[in-house]
Amino acid sequence: MAGFGGAETAKAGGLGCGPLIAPLSESMRPLRQQVFERVRAAGLIARVQVAKDLGVSPASVTTITSELIEAGLIEEVSAPRDPELGRGRPAVALGVRAQAHLVAGMKMSDREHSAVIVDFAGNLLANEVVPRRPGPMPVAEMLDAMEALLNRVCENAGIARAALSGVGVGLPGFVDQAEGVVLWSSTLTERAVPLALAAQERLGLPVSIDNDANLVALAELWFGAGRSLADFAVVTFEHGVGMGFVMNHRIYRGAQRLGLELGHTKVQLDGALCRCGQRGCLEAYVADYALAREATTALNWGHRDGQSISVLLESLYDHAQAGDATARSIFRRAGRYLAVGLANVVNLFDPALIILSGERLKFDYLYAAETLAEMDNLVINTGRPRPPIEIHAWGDLLWAHGAAALALSAVTERILTAPRELAAQ
Ligand SMILES: [Zn+2]
Repeated sequence: MAGFGGAETAKAGGLGCGPLIAPLSESMRPLRQQVFERVRAAGLIARVQVAKDLGVSPASVTTITSELIEAGLIEEVSAPRDPELGRGRPAVALGVRAQAHLVAGMKMSDREHSAVIVDFAGNLLANEVVPRRPGPMPVAEMLDAMEALLNRVCENAGIARAALSGVGVGLPGFVDQAEGVVLWSSTLTERAVPLALAAQERLGLPVSIDNDANLVALAELWFGAGRSLADFAVVTFEHGVGMGFVMNHRIYRGAQRLGLELGHTKVQLDGALCRCGQRGCLEAYVADYALAREATTALNWGHRDGQSISVLLESLYDHAQAGDATARSIFRRAGRYLAVGLANVVNLFDPALIILSGERLKFDYLYAAETLAEMDNLVINTGRPRPPIEIHAWGDLLWAHGAAALALSAVTERILTAPRELAAQ
């Protein structure tokens, strides 16, 4: 009985069995929220279809949708009837009222800051990208940067800051999304920063923060290839290597809520030195600083502090393209380590799809045919095909879009789980 010591007590005390899922946890959201989310996901949908999809009575859907319409969150739209099904009055469908709320999504990164404004239906209204000097900055400076960026993107959208209902912010590092705390980020000089609260006070708006790789996964989940998938992985390449994992249509965060650190899984005992201080991390072989380190050593290139790593990597890539054997071998080696990392993801999580995301993916040596072949050798052979790998070499605006999705979730959560009197305001 060791290990199950509580079993007899449970029987005697009537404590029940089965998972103790907290009421109103993500798997048990209020019906009102489920109805709203169904309408938002469908774009346009008839009431009767909502009832069918959620397995509830049409009457309860009618009651809830009336409330949501009254609260200004959804609206009736006349949808043209399928000509083959009949004529007469156009059918009435439900859709999200796009102008109900506007939110901003921002990505603060090592190279540049980017922002978008989207409406309640997820339509992009404006964007802005601002380059920055690389390196960590004090929190006060980060808040200045966030405020300036937000003002600029609002100006582009032709709206006042006060017209926003919330802001989502993504940044690299260890971020506790629920607590709004950045435990560590390469963009900040301080540790354990309650950034969501600080930003909220500075901007005068509700702010949610998250790790930027999670936000790329969220962008894929809300707007991209992940919409119809329950389980998939997004691996990001930027200054470091990040990973967002979606499990059962939700971002997987883990017990410490800091998500998954693919970049710091070990691919070599006592291997190359990583910027986290440990050795043999995947990132120490694949990230931009790893490629730059190889380039400066093997090709004897001078690399001043402050010189743009992007410029150095572009040059390395050009050399590889032109047939330089050393330059090619540097990318080839990084690709082999990447294959190890991706094979580990497949062996651990069995995702339906792996998306490689980030601008650096224009360096196609990283995922050349040999890299994928190497990966096939390392994935456990079950007799079934390994998951497809897609390359999404989108820029920072995609990441900012993920931050906007985070803000939309927060706004929706706030409104739909609030007491009804509040929601109707
Ligand atoms: Zn590391």
